[in-house]
Amino acid sequence: MNSVTTPPSVGHTVRGACPHDCPDTCALLTTVENGVAVRVQGNPEHPATAGVLCTKVARYPERTYHPDRVLQPLKRSGPKGSGQFTPVSWDEALDTIAARLGAIAARNPEAVLPYSYAGTMGLVQGEAMAARFFHRMGASLLDRTICSAAGGEALLYTIGAKVGMRVEFFAESRLILIWGSNSITSNLHFWRHAQEAKRRGARLVCIDPRRTETAEKCHEHLQLLPGTDAALALALMHELITHDWLDRDYIERHTLGFEALAARALQWPPERAAEVCGLPVAQIRALAQAWGTTQPAAIRLNYGMQRVRGGGNAVRAIACLPALTGAWRHRAGGLLLSSSGAFPIDRAALQRPDLLGTRRPRTINMSTIGDDLLRVASSGFGPKIEALVVYNSNPVAVAPESAKVVQGFAREDLFTVVLEHFRTDTADHADFILPATTQLEHWDIHTSYGHTDVLLNRPAIAPLGEARPNTEIFRALATRMGYTEACFADDDLTLCRTALGARVDFERLLAQGFAPLELPEAPFAEGNFPTPSGRCEFWSERLAAQGLDGLPDHLPNHEASGSDPRHPLAMISPPARHFLNSSFVNVESLRASEGEPLLEIHATDAAARGIADGDEVRVYNDRGSHRCIARISPRARAGVVNGLGIWWRKFGRDGTNVNELTSQRLTDLGRGPTFYDCLVEVERFAPGAQRSAAEGCA
Ligand code: SF4
Repeated sequence: MNSVTTPPSVGHTVRGACPHDCPDTCALLTTVENGVAVRVQGNPEHPATAGVLCTKVARYPERTYHPDRVLQPLKRSGPKGSGQFTPVSWDEALDTIAARLGAIAARNPEAVLPYSYAGTMGLVQGEAMAARFFHRMGASLLDRTICSAAGGEALLYTIGAKVGMRVEFFAESRLILIWGSNSITSNLHFWRHAQEAKRRGARLVCIDPRRTETAEKCHEHLQLLPGTDAALALALMHELITHDWLDRDYIERHTLGFEALAARALQWPPERAAEVCGLPVAQIRALAQAWGTTQPAAIRLNYGMQRVRGGGNAVRAIACLPALTGAWRHRAGGLLLSSSGAFPIDRAALQRPDLLGTRRPRTINMSTIGDDLLRVASSGFGPKIEALVVYNSNPVAVAPESAKVVQGFAREDLFTVVLEHFRTDTADHADFILPATTQLEHWDIHTSYGHTDVLLNRPAIAPLGEARPNTEIFRALATRMGYTEACFADDDLTLCRTALGARVDFERLLAQGFAPLELPEAPFAEGNFPTPSGRCEFWSERLAAQGLDGLPDHLPNHEASGSDPRHPLAMISPPARHFLNSSFVNVESLRASEGEPLLEIHATDAAARGIADGDEVRVYNDRGSHRCIARISPRARAGVVNGLGIWWRKFGRDGTNVNELTSQRLTDLGRGPTFYDCLVEVERFAPGAQRSAAEGCA
């Protein structure tokens, strides 16, 4: 076994964890020869990983030793966004950054904004030392909404937390609804269990606007219109109620608000939902019958479907289904959207919000960074954002309505620091790029949102070049800012121990690399939901107290199909198979597998526009325009196009990606983004016509 403090130099296998924004949180084994990581594999001893990694992370050495890694601090030497930089020493970079941040903070610390997300899911290289640093400063807080906020709030108000079934028990289910999830691409290790269930005779049903690789392998696919999931769920309830496919004992003892929910659901006969969802009535009826008459039955829900105006209500409606039929009685029944709420993370110890003292900084929503970077100071908004420190995120590529995001990042008066591995679209707009270590080069500790094990990540190799862990960078900045609190001296292993405290067996983590939480197999078999009532709350008093609907309902999209004749196509932007959000786009072998930015379009929609397979097309709406290649494909349903993401803008044909088209409007719950609530029109790209067409876009 390698030493606790020093990475090994020869012939070792080092235990780690995949840091990426994926529910599977795989256990890694990195083979190191002469100080070089030569191979990254899945740990066969970790039950959830079972020795298998996805193709993306199996290429981790290629990413780690990529010739484009940023390995020295870089200072901007050209105009904002030009990507022109000059190498500087760490001292020069840190001294300058500390002086600039210090001067801004002296006027008003809320003019400084940290911007981060799940570039690493690690608790230590994520929000630990960084959070301490910004709390001590009194910087603006960031509402980290960009992925899961609507669904997370919905679970909170329905079953009480981000908790649910244990993933391994899906293998014993008789019916699995894979709802809004391309599991083969985004949740591979769940798919293994679904396959096992299928072998044992289970029926798999996919519910997704796109005919994904997963949909193709299920017994049935309901290819509904984006943003209509709540209508489908309400129609399923309608059928459960009218046919009495209910577990009345479970409803009586473990739920709240059934009568009110039933009254709402009875307004949704399958005929009504069929029209809203764009589905055959018979398909809805058949699914309701299957759900109502099969046990154990389970739902694997994922976050794609909640990125629409009514995403929170939709998750609430779907989360009611297992309680109506008593599916939770079985360990192989119920629902899993996220397991992250099962982990007893000690965020107060890790992030130290007490360093704020009596200060209560404003909160900026990361999903509206485009608008917020362009705001002037006002009594409602507070100070103009003068400095931005970005880590574990690439907002110029991934935030919605990117024309505004780019405009904000291009502000000459904005001081921007980016901690990164590569010169991403965001790093191109930095004043300083600071070279960050990858997962193979630092300590971290990981929970998961797809299983219930804690994983420890050991450094396998020494940091490349002059790269430093995020923690070390924020420690060094804290020193230069004169922050003398003892917490800034905590080393990374101490932070790993702090993250879950005594609630996880750290010695076991050191020895084995992973440690399971002790959890019941069927958590809600006897109710005990972590809600205020202890029941599954069909009716939420907490929502009603906020003036919101206490029951789930279908809320049409902000940009509902058919509502805008100028933009008649709904666009969703699911992940390309070989990318993970915007990570891996610069890994040549993975980018080669994707080719270039594609728009999947149904043959009928293509023919109506004179578009042939492989044509260059312009996708546009009033927010912007994006050029890519059309792929006529049954993966797209009529009326819906799929813009696969998330490409870096600089690899796009016209320096854009699909987020040129998405909006900054928010979800009903959680103030999340609405990436899949977006109307567009598509036309064959004709260079001569571009200018006048583009001028039509406001
Ligand atoms: S991205 Fe997901 S499937 Fe791939 S290695 Fe990481 S955790 Fe596993």
